[in-house]
Amino acid sequence: MSELITLTIDGVEIKAEKGTSILRAALENGIYIPHLCDHQDLTSVGICRVCLVEIEGRRPTVSCMTPVEEGMVVTTSSEELDMTRKVNMELLILHHDYDCQNCAKNSYCKLQELTRYVGIDEERISAMRAPALDFPIDDSNPYYQRDMNKCVLCGICVRTCEEIQGDECIDFAFRGIETRISVLGDKPIIDSTCVTCGECVSRCPVGALVPQKAIEPTYEVETVCPFCGCGCNILVGARGGKLVSSTAVEDSPVSGGSLCVKGRYGLSFVNSPERLTTPLIRRDGELVEASWEEAISLISEKLGQYKGDQFATIASAKCTVEDNYVLQKFTRAVMGTNNIDHCARL
Ligand code: SF4
Ligand code: SF4
Ligand code: SF4
Ligand code: SF4
Repeated sequence: MSELITLTIDGVEIKAEKGTSILRAALENGIYIPHLCDHQDLTSVGICRVCLVEIEGRRPTVSCMTPVEEGMVVTTSSEELDMTRKVNMELLILHHDYDCQNCAKNSYCKLQELTRYVGIDEERISAMRAPALDFPIDDSNPYYQRDMNKCVLCGICVRTCEEIQGDECIDFAFRGIETRISVLGDKPIIDSTCVTCGECVSRCPVGALVPQKAIEPTYEVETVCPFCGCGCNILVGARGGKLVSSTAVEDSPVSGGSLCVKGRYGLSFVNSPERLTTPLIRRDGELVEASWEEAISLISEKLGQYKGDQFATIASAKCTVEDNYVLQKFTRAVMGTNNIDHCARL
């Protein structure tokens, strides 16, 4: 059993596991410390320096990089801390392309949350604001868009790609004011080794990485990704009777909150206008629409002509799990063969 450390944050005595950072210990105990570059799934790096705290007997320090210690006395807000945080935030947003009304992250943005909390002075920022950097928007990936004019250089995407996806296709590039997240050779993302898992998109705290054509769902339902045997838990979102989003269930025991490109971006077939809505029967070389009665009669007549390994079934990931279960049962128990295949066999 892990060792528990007792410390005090803002006068409240809390307990945290040895090795936990002050930031995580505070958040787990309902004490808010503003932070931007830290993410619960990733290694802490202390880049943004917004999570500064005071520890009795020491200089102000970043709480995401400092482990809890027995008897520690921590303060999360003071005149000096608030001023330092404010300056750190100002430096982060000086070049930011503030166009919240037209940003897909509006109302869900960590930068908005932090500027509200820290109390950024709009007039002061306007006076210091440098000319817009005007990086071109990278629209090359059909599933997500990269806008480095909105990037706050938190590095969450870089660590996600390396630590969770194991791809390492993006990194910090260039220097000073020109610093941005890029791929080798500063090419469009589509020309990199990116596998479009969307893990970085789901963790980007601002509007720098957003899904293409993002539509906010009115409600979400938890289900299982139909595409492969891993069976990752997903939340599908709907709006106006149409499926508009698919996101990972964060505490999924199957996927640990991750998805691949298929589960995250591959469910648009549900509303595809090309989807068949009636059976088709080939007549005189042409596929023509037929009723379900006609189709089922034809199939049952033809099935009688085969038995055992003369017969094979190819199932589809786009059917429900229950449909596919029935299909394999029919193939094995009725047709007497194990000739059955499916793309969902990772
Ligand atoms: S990233 Fe956040 S702060 Fe920036 S424009 Fe979008 S919503 Fe506004
Ligand atoms: S989508 Fe996945 S592979 Fe591509 S950059 Fe993001 S984390 Fe890396
Ligand atoms: S793209 Fe998003 S996640 Fe990546 S460094 Fe910029 S703000 Fe952070
Ligand atoms: S296709 Fe991808 S998201 Fe879906 S279950 Fe398999 S691994 Fe998970």
